[in-house]
Amino acid sequence: MQRIGIMGGTFDPIHYGHLVTAEQAHYQFNLDKVVFVPSGLPPHKVGKHITSPGHRHMMTVLATTSNPHFEVSSIEVDRVGPSYTIDTVRAFRDRYGDEAGLYFITGADAILEMLEWKDSDTLLELCEFIAATRPGYALHNGRIEEIFVEKANRIHFFEVPALAISSTDIRERLRQGRPVRYLLPDIVVSYIERAELYCG
Ligand code: NAP
Repeated sequence: MQRIGIMGGTFDPIHYGHLVTAEQAHYQFNLDKVVFVPSGLPPHKVGKHITSPGHRHMMTVLATTSNPHFEVSSIEVDRVGPSYTIDTVRAFRDRYGDEAGLYFITGADAILEMLEWKDSDTLLELCEFIAATRPGYALHNGRIEEIFVEKANRIHFFEVPALAISSTDIRERLRQGRPVRYLLPDIVVSYIERAELYCG
C-alpha cells in the first residue's frame, strides 16, 4: 500500500520551514513520497495580493529538485478558479487508488479552519491530515476533538522547530532590504532577485 504525502500551501515564497516539515513528515509517517501542491488561487485569499501561481510553482520546483522523495504537482496552479483541497485530494485518490494512504500536510492554523472548507466531512474521509505547528504553539487537543468530534483521530499534529521561519517574515524582509539568506534555498533567493519579486 502506497503512502503519499500531499504538501499543500501557498508557498509565497517556499522556505526551509516547509522543506523540513515535508522531510520530517516523510520520515515520521513512513511516506513513500511527498508531492508539493502550490495553491493556484487559495479560496480564503481571493482579493488579497499573492505572487502569481507560475512564480510560486517555479520556486517550489527549484527548492525541491534535489530531494528524490519530493515531487511538485501543478494541479492547482493549472486549475481555473479557486483551489479547493477536496478537488485536489479527489484527483490524488483517482490517481493512487482506494488502497493508498493519503496524508494532506499543511500548517496547523490552516487545518483549524478546515470545517469552513468545501466538503470538509468528505475530505476527512478521503485523507488524513498532518498539521505542522511552530515551536510554542498550543496544540489545543481538547479543541480539536470538540471541532472534529469522532474524526479528530484523522488529524496528526507535530512540531517543526524550523517553522519559526515564515513566508510573511521573508516577504517583509525582502521589502525592507533585510537579509533572507539561510531562511530559504539560495536558488530560490536568486530566482526572487532575477524576477524582482517582493520588492514593492
Ligand atoms: P495560510 O493561511 O497562508 O497559512 C497558515 C499557516 O500555515 C501559516 O503560518 C503558514 O506559514 C503555514 N503553512 C502553510 N502551508 C504550510 C505547509 N505546507 N507546511 C507548513 N506550514 C505551512 O495557508 P495556505 O498556505 O493559504 O493554505 C494551506 C493549505 O490549505 C493550502 O493547500 C490551501 O489550498 C488549503 N486550503 C484549502 C481551503 C479549501 O479547500 N476551502 C481553504 C483554505 C486553505 P507560511 O506563511 O510560512 O507558509
